[in-house]
Amino acid sequence: MSPLETNLNFVREKIKAAALRAGRKENITLVAVTKTVGAPRVNEILALGVKDIGENRIQEARIKFPELKKEKAAFHMIGHLQSNKVKDAVKLFDIIHSVDSLSLADAIDKESAKAGKKMPCLIEVNIGSEISKAGLKYEDAKSFLKETVKYKNIRFEGLMTVAPIAESPEQVRPYFKKMKQLFDELKKTPEGANFKHLSMGMSQDYEAAIEEGATLVRVGSALFGSRTTGL
Ligand SMILES: *Cc1c(COP(=O)(O)O)cnc(C)c1O
Repeated sequence: MSPLETNLNFVREKIKAAALRAGRKENITLVAVTKTVGAPRVNEILALGVKDIGENRIQEARIKFPELKKEKAAFHMIGHLQSNKVKDAVKLFDIIHSVDSLSLADAIDKESAKAGKKMPCLIEVNIGSEISKAGLKYEDAKSFLKETVKYKNIRFEGLMTVAPIAESPEQVRPYFKKMKQLFDELKKTPEGANFKHLSMGMSQDYEAAIEEGATLVRVGSALFGSRTTGL
């Protein structure tokens, strides 16, 4: 068994166990985050049955995606997106997790119209109110979602967050709880009718995120090894 397969089996088991602990019945989607990972290893994980691939930079996706055996894959844009890269993002990706401003939503709406696409998007929330992080303020998410009815070429399917860096998953659990509350609240509104994804949890804390209601976890280094060693 390759190291990647070993890691993948480990992560899958942890996901299953966390879902079981929390009495979750719906599927949890594992998005393999492949930033800085070369195409051969992305193809390896696709061959192992992973269908969801996350990238955070358009430039990297543009070079890498043509080399992928991607018949069944779904591509997730998880990084901060600049308006001038939206055209490529709409072309390259199946869902954008990182919508955090009306000007960005405007741009996605326009490019999606041109591409004849109704783009699935998530609203990114800066749950820890960190200055260094992208995302809407928690208290602005509701009014933002209300504004989105005007975008006919975007389907808002839920929320995404990058939790603050912490020593232990227990320190971020309250943020995940808050996200789940917000998700449930917005899902009840007319504009949240299509909500189905709550994207939260990374290598350090995906189990806690699942216990608190994540439907989609974004895992990189736990699969491909530490980014600093480039394993
Ligand atoms: C890199 C990245 C991840 C994955 O991080 P790991 O700690 O390697 O699992 C998840 N989400 C976003 C937005 C990222 O940029």
